[in-house]
Amino acid sequence: MIPSMAKILMTTPLVEMDGDEMTRILWQKIKEILILPYVDLKTEYYDLGLIKRDETDDQITIQSAEATLRHGVAVKCATITPNLQRVKEYKLKQMWKSPNGTIRAMLDGTVFRAPIVVKGISPCVRSWKKPIIIARHAHGDVYKNVEFAVPGKGQGELCFTNDAGEETRLPIASFHSGGVLQGVHNTDESISSFARACFTYALSQKQDLWFSTKDTISKIYDHRFKDIFADLYENEYKNAFDDAKIEYFYTLIDDAVARVIRSEGGFIWALKNYDGDVMSDMVATAFGSLAMMTSVLVSPRGQFEYEAAHGTVTRHYYKHLAGEETSTNPVATIFAWTGALKKRGDLDKLPELVSFGETLEKATLQTIESGLMTKDLVPLFEGQARGLDSIAFLEAIAQTFEHMG
Ligand code: NAP
Ligand code: MG
Repeated sequence: MIPSMAKILMTTPLVEMDGDEMTRILWQKIKEILILPYVDLKTEYYDLGLIKRDETDDQITIQSAEATLRHGVAVKCATITPNLQRVKEYKLKQMWKSPNGTIRAMLDGTVFRAPIVVKGISPCVRSWKKPIIIARHAHGDVYKNVEFAVPGKGQGELCFTNDAGEETRLPIASFHSGGVLQGVHNTDESISSFARACFTYALSQKQDLWFSTKDTISKIYDHRFKDIFADLYENEYKNAFDDAKIEYFYTLIDDAVARVIRSEGGFIWALKNYDGDVMSDMVATAFGSLAMMTSVLVSPRGQFEYEAAHGTVTRHYYKHLAGEETSTNPVATIFAWTGALKKRGDLDKLPELVSFGETLEKATLQTIESGLMTKDLVPLFEGQARGLDSIAFLEAIAQTFEHMG
């Protein structure tokens, strides 16, 4: 990239959600070193740092979500979800809710998590060459369960009462002595919204979509998920999938697990809430590191919010405040920015902006592949590796980028 070149222009602003602690510091530096020299960056800025959230009674979070509904693309820095200790530390008016939870509820979105794959850091599964993106349905099931410790002999039943007061009762089990009972639920509305987010995201990524449940055992509950996905696909998405030359396919979760392990990667795997929770930890760990995992919230109406999957890296922040050198990995946060810029470029038909995002991603990966990285990656890297502090690493990426242009 020639320094004297005119900056890339944008038409629609990105919704920029600033955050907390070490990631807030990296946020500023990523913009300064890797974006502002090349892009005439247009953003609508919302400070979701904890101090500002407290000052505005968390209205700032709501405003940032409304802005995302308006503009369509947001990029978010990691934020503190306050607990009791944070309430004391920041002298908060109250224990504000997780900003991610608030934004997810307003966008009605699904979170997709993707590992950033780099040569020299091999996944534990040898056949995996491309990322596997996990889409987890974040509503209901065992996370909203009702549990009961059965004290002794008696009947367990499932009971539904409609608005007219009529009851439907189904026997669950006869207890001869103590045991346990559990009720779980989901709604057609939430399942449809999950399915739409998955189809929308698969189209935006041009990647195949897999979906798996245990419908052979759960013939009504899990089967409903399978049916809703199948109906929406046939009636609303099939043509677009055919045009994009991608595939939707459903398979039993047992079969999916076996196929995933034998695959090369490069697809999206949609899962129910519990399956997604467990499988995303498995897939993330098998790919390498939490610091190399991006996350995007996709609404069923096609809004996108990009972020890193990790938190605010508190331990490093306190080292930084104490004047010590830190080596915090900025890769997932850089990819949140490039993801958002590429999407904005796509929507606004700005090929230069898309290509900027792609090149910056390549420069980041090439820098690591050349042996320069933050210290968390050094033990994972298979070649000669030098651990740099955060700023030196960002500057190394800028140098690689300059040579690529
Ligand atoms: P964390 O910030 O993800 O950090 C946990 C540990 O993982 C770090 O101490 C560090 O290990 C390692 N790590 C994570 N990201 C790294 C990076 N980019 N570079 C290098 N090492 C990295 O999780 P946490 O400490 O549990 O949470 C801290 C705060 O973040 C909490 O207030 C939580 O509410 C918030 N949080 C926010 C989000 C979000 O906004 N999406 C998500 C999760 C957590 P070492 O200390 O061993 O170096
Ligand atoms: Mg988990």
